[in-house]
Amino acid sequence: MSVGFIGLGNMGLPMATRLVDAGHGVVVFDVRADSVERMVECGAVAGSSARDVADRTDTVLASLPTPQVSEVVAAEVSGGSAVRRYVDLSTVGAQAAQRNSAVLAEHGITALDAPVSGGVHGAEAGTLAVMVSGPRADFAAMESVFAAIGRAIFVSEQPGAAQTMKLVNNLMAATTLAATAEVMVMGVKAGLDAHVMIDVLNAGSGGTHASRDKFPRAVLPRTFDYGFATGLMTKDIRLYLDEARSLGVPSRVAETVAALWETTLAELGADSDFTSIVKPMEDVAGVVVGGEEHGGGG
Ligand code: NAD
Repeated sequence: MSVGFIGLGNMGLPMATRLVDAGHGVVVFDVRADSVERMVECGAVAGSSARDVADRTDTVLASLPTPQVSEVVAAEVSGGSAVRRYVDLSTVGAQAAQRNSAVLAEHGITALDAPVSGGVHGAEAGTLAVMVSGPRADFAAMESVFAAIGRAIFVSEQPGAAQTMKLVNNLMAATTLAATAEVMVMGVKAGLDAHVMIDVLNAGSGGTHASRDKFPRAVLPRTFDYGFATGLMTKDIRLYLDEARSLGVPSRVAETVAALWETTLAELGADSDFTSIVKPMEDVAGVVVGGEEHGGGG
């Protein structure tokens, strides 16, 4: 199998690096030349476009920011002369995945949706959860590639099913981060120490991935550098809501969580780190969560 990789951002760069380190020859492309150069330094081969990658490799992976970009790239890849399999690691929603699958199928190319969870740290460590939908034989053929980036879980043969699963996962992650931010602001305003609060939450029944990992890594030290942009988190919540509304299911929690993320997006911008969701809440309350260890208001 020859492997191509398109989209070398926060997630793509460490995933492509792990593929190179695992011994795969990887042809890479990103619209950012500096990212391609970094991968070449790690041992990858530079492609000149998405089409070029698809002309040179039979299995093309992609980690792209939005459904719109994913559809443009999938269309470009579909014209490639060597590509036989397209594996989209991006979060694009079920509808875009189904459209991509149909476009690629017209050219005899198999599509696998393989959105990932576990963040930049998971991508660097090779511990991502990779949820996969598409033909089972292609899932099996990808075993060594998926093993280099994390644990692959087969969701369904139905195109887009893994995207639905990923949106469910991300709505949970968005909700627990928003809820943790809100209760931390409340506790600090009441005079509790933020570090002690996180210790107690993690020892008790209120602990979540937000309190175990995101707060200690990026909020308490005030670095806000977890590696996932507010714009991308908001995109995922909007995709979840689109799908929930089209299914006609209850989404009151999701609507509230969406409003909190839209506020963060409006106030801090799409490029802010998603852990910044606590900042607009801090501003309203007039407190800061974290900072110096066991000191002051946090
Ligand atoms: P990112 O914005 O850091 O990376 C996207 C990369 O795609 C950038 O390097 C960009 O230059 C490149 N790109 C944009 N348009 C392109 C094009 N037409 N051709 C080639 N390259 C192009 O985003 P990210 O955080 O790495 O996320 C990528 C995907 O993975 C998103 O769908 C995101 O929702 C999902 N995701 C992110 C995380 C995370 O923690 N960052 C976790 C799980 C899933």
